[in-house]
Amino acid sequence: MEATASLPSAPSIFEIHEDDADVILNTSDDCKLFVHKLILRKASAVFATMFDLPQPAPSHNTSTSFLDMCDLPVVPVSEDKAVWDVILCMLYRHETPSFASIVDLKVVLEAAQKYDLEFITQRIEHALLCPLRAPWDPLDVYALACLYNLESVAVHAARATLALPLEQLCAHELHAVPAAAFQRLLAYRLRARDAAAGVAGLSRVSMATGAAWPGGKLFKRIEWLPRATYTFFACDCGAGGVECAVKLGSDVHMLSGRGYWRAYLERAEAALKEQPVGSVVREPALMVPAFKAAGDCYHCRHHIYEDLSEFVDCMAKEVDKAVAAVPLKF
Ligand SMILES: [Zn+2]
Repeated sequence: MEATASLPSAPSIFEIHEDDADVILNTSDDCKLFVHKLILRKASAVFATMFDLPQPAPSHNTSTSFLDMCDLPVVPVSEDKAVWDVILCMLYRHETPSFASIVDLKVVLEAAQKYDLEFITQRIEHALLCPLRAPWDPLDVYALACLYNLESVAVHAARATLALPLEQLCAHELHAVPAAAFQRLLAYRLRARDAAAGVAGLSRVSMATGAAWPGGKLFKRIEWLPRATYTFFACDCGAGGVECAVKLGSDVHMLSGRGYWRAYLERAEAALKEQPVGSVVREPALMVPAFKAAGDCYHCRHHIYEDLSEFVDCMAKEVDKAVAAVPLKF
């Protein structure tokens, strides 16, 4: 069951009748909020249309109730005071509150879309895109973005889910992830996984034609390095090396990568299939075995830390670039 909203309902400045207020919002919990037509009209096409309709004449009755004495039009709204407090604070003061839960944010977003309050929707969208303001579960954010058609938020959140293994993906607060949206997310994760793993992965090619061939020789093509003078290319130690082509500008350098470097690439590829984010390739569990193996070679041991660290940084950036290029079908 979805959690319920828990927006704070403190006394509000809008409950105080200012002389220049010209309309009253009557909330679902029967609070009267004194507001200004001009503000609502500018912010909302729904209110603008409503205020353009012929308004009932003031009652001029003999009642002594406070509302009747105000002589202002009353607009009933189906949200409670807490929701309208947030909306009005955002409209009047341009303050975006710190929402305690994504369900709180959802009820405000629901009202913003109902009344066509574009400014409110944009501010919430901005808050959801700011990681410091949005500490929520990425799947919750993705679900919310799909429900309210916030494409940039959906893309951002889908990418954030990549840091979590599939079995840890769950929406903690929203339990209304539409099946089709979830399916699109899974398809996106598969494409992101392939793109990330492809940066580290070796391929098999026919050495005669250079074309991909399952029965061919292991080969690595790299087009994202600033140089080709790394010790794992320059040295000829150890076994299990792999042919590679390193493209620098318009030149292609045919090199042989050392066995410990190839083993690192294989570990990185496996890790990226689990978690397709660039930072994964810097994990000590992936790099330390390469440092240890290179330590057995007199030449490599002097250069491996600096060289592999630089290589790994370049690869992490390339992984993030490859994943960022994967489209989310929204
Ligand atoms: Zn060596």
